[in-house]
Amino acid sequence: MKKTYLITGGAGFLGSHLCERLLGEGNKVICMDNFITGEIRNIKHLAADKNFRLIKRDVSKYINIKEKLDYVMHFASPASPVDYLNFPIQTLKVGSLGTHNTLGLAKAKKAKFFLASTSEVYGDPLAHPQKEEYWGNVNCIGPRSVYDEAKRFSEAITMAYHRARKVDTKIIRIFNTYGARMRKNDGRAIPNFICQARTNKPITVYGDGSQTRSFCYVDDLIEGIIRLANSSLNTPVNIGNPNEMKLIDLARLIIKLSASESRICFRKLPADDPKQRRPDITRANKYLKWAPEVNIEEGLRKTISWFAEG
Ligand code: UDP
Repeated sequence: MKKTYLITGGAGFLGSHLCERLLGEGNKVICMDNFITGEIRNIKHLAADKNFRLIKRDVSKYINIKEKLDYVMHFASPASPVDYLNFPIQTLKVGSLGTHNTLGLAKAKKAKFFLASTSEVYGDPLAHPQKEEYWGNVNCIGPRSVYDEAKRFSEAITMAYHRARKVDTKIIRIFNTYGARMRKNDGRAIPNFICQARTNKPITVYGDGSQTRSFCYVDDLIEGIIRLANSSLNTPVNIGNPNEMKLIDLARLIIKLSASESRICFRKLPADDPKQRRPDITRANKYLKWAPEVNIEEGLRKTISWFAEG
């Protein structure tokens, strides 16, 4: 049965892939974005679809949609450390006021609600790998707090609307994800390294590169989103690829796959940069039968080709 989805942040990296997937399944999609980090080129190819509608708006302000909605999916937020440091107030507002507005809309429309949360709620984690039960280790006044605390608040208000207002809510905790449509200059490790490798410029590894991350290819992540959205799970679920690696090894792999002559240079580690990160995906595996399928080499090759074309 065709459903109507509102996707906030629909012109962003993940939001645009999600719009595409939902349209592909025959649904109606209303994409809302204020374009502070989203890009029109991500959704241009969807404009001709009669089931697609774009609304340029900031979800941190009151929103009103005339038609009926079946699902509100809140993906709007700057999501790269560089972006949320450039837009600290907007990041706090979209996570707090934006989540409140979208929850209110979902309640009014008797729609389901889906929150894009993040592994950043675990901060610089002292438990490893991170299970959903872990409460996290976040510096509430550090530079990253604008994102981390906004997302922690967004989870809290989502659970409150679930418990007190009976909204059917889902919370995904997204771990590092990569693929086509990341912005060249979004500042995250994978787009930075790929763009530097392509132009044989030095690869900027922050700190000594011993910090770890676990990178998930976008198609795997979108599949996880769809499975969670269609499930009856109301508590948070980690979605990410448990294949953990050191940043220095990621840099070396991208140099190799790009056949680049870049060398590695070391830069200051940003404040509160998590030392380690790896999802425990037992819950997703058990309840959603989900596991990532794309390995890092295959995913990076596709991403490198996309950057080469664009
Ligand atoms: N990083 C790096 N060089 C870069 C960009 C990022 O070494 O040019 C590091 C960053 O310090 C962090 C890791 O790569 O340890 C992942 O950073 P990213 O910004 O991709 O996302 P995060 O997981 O920190 O949100």
